[in-house]
Amino acid sequence: MLSEKITDLIQNQVNKEYYSAYLYLDFSGFYADKGLDGFAAWYKKQADEEVEHAEKFVKYLEDNGVRPVYETIAKPEMNPVELKDPLVFSLDHEKYVTSLINAIYEEAFNEKDYRTQQFLSWFIDEQGEEEKNAEDNLKKFELFGSDPKGLYELNSAFANRE
Ligand code: MG
Repeated sequence: MLSEKITDLIQNQVNKEYYSAYLYLDFSGFYADKGLDGFAAWYKKQADEEVEHAEKFVKYLEDNGVRPVYETIAKPEMNPVELKDPLVFSLDHEKYVTSLINAIYEEAFNEKDYRTQQFLSWFIDEQGEEEKNAEDNLKKFELFGSDPKGLYELNSAFANRE
């Protein structure tokens, strides 16, 4: 059985993952509006991944006899203006999500809840990936995004995210 504290933290994480999806959909819409369909597609896929993350946490709750509670999802209010903004905000956001996952892990560690620690190990690795992706995207934009030809190529590369 999960402790009340672990249950609350995971419940909160479900909401944060759906919020992440919302945030990335907002970024996708921002780029679509700017005519950068490749950037928009990249963020749409990222949003789909966040929904999968939420579903993994939901399944863990359900597998432990907890009925998930679906709280209100906050409105994305990062309000990008410059083309670079979503890339900067994404890196900040993923660092924040990493800190949330780490906090759940820390609680599981303190409670000697080994099963939850094991469950979270996938997310610990995943957050490493997410931060790396966000950093790489930002670096690429800084290298190639300032001239139209580079931006065009970058947009095509982003469109091909698998
Ligand atoms: Mg996530």
